[in-house]
Amino acid sequence: MKKLIVANWKCNPLKSQEALKIFKGTIAVASKSKKAETVICPPYVFLKEIIAAAKGTEIKIGAQNCFWEETGAYTGMVSAAMLKNMGCKYAIIGHSEARRFVKETNEEISRKIAAAAKSGLIPILCIGENRGERKENKTYEVLAQQLNEGLLKLSKIDISKIIIAYEPIWAIGTGDYADPIEIKKAKEFILGLLKKMSGAENTGKIRVIYGGSVNAENSELYFSKAEMDGLLVGGASLNPKEFSKIINSASY
Ligand code: PEP
Repeated sequence: MKKLIVANWKCNPLKSQEALKIFKGTIAVASKSKKAETVICPPYVFLKEIIAAAKGTEIKIGAQNCFWEETGAYTGMVSAAMLKNMGCKYAIIGHSEARRFVKETNEEISRKIAAAAKSGLIPILCIGENRGERKENKTYEVLAQQLNEGLLKLSKIDISKIIIAYEPIWAIGTGDYADPIEIKKAKEFILGLLKKMSGAENTGKIRVIYGGSVNAENSELYFSKAEMDGLLVGGASLNPKEFSKIINSASY
């Protein structure tokens, strides 16, 4: 299976011309790669243009969030069904920045995950411990709670199609180094739990990717040593040259 390299542009850039420039700088390498599938997740406002620009390329597009209801009196929300209809394939859900800045709860996340799956989007559920939880050796406890509560509304078969992004919060945007061996252990823990939740007949398809200060210098380690199924890249995905190197570092 190809590795999944997901670009999370967060709340960047400021203008659509800049968004198109970043996107175009990524096309060549992303289209040629035999080892990686590239997904770009721009802010909602750039989705239409980026989806149009991605036509005929190998790049897939994702949203950075979604709402659980399809339509109705929900001012400011964008539904999973709308995103699917406009051409998105993936949706990032439960990112630590959404948990932190808009106080998203596991219960809300579980509704979003269910709505995404129902509408045909592939959810990328972000989970991870903060620095304090890590110090108190609560990493696995936190991961288990986020998975159990976040996936509560999914059928076994839908759990088997999900992508989990393990993102230790202390490593996001900080440049702090997460040991690939620890990450590999976290992946094994996550897979063990998901296999129980999805049932033996559905195992084998679930992908666990890593995110947290990934750059062109360290990305290779997350494949070779941590054996991750892909990467979620924030800051470095805004620089096409660096992001292209990250795509090229994907190995089986
Ligand atoms: C992210 O946005 O999920 C992320 C991991 O960001 P960064 O790569 O900048 O740490």
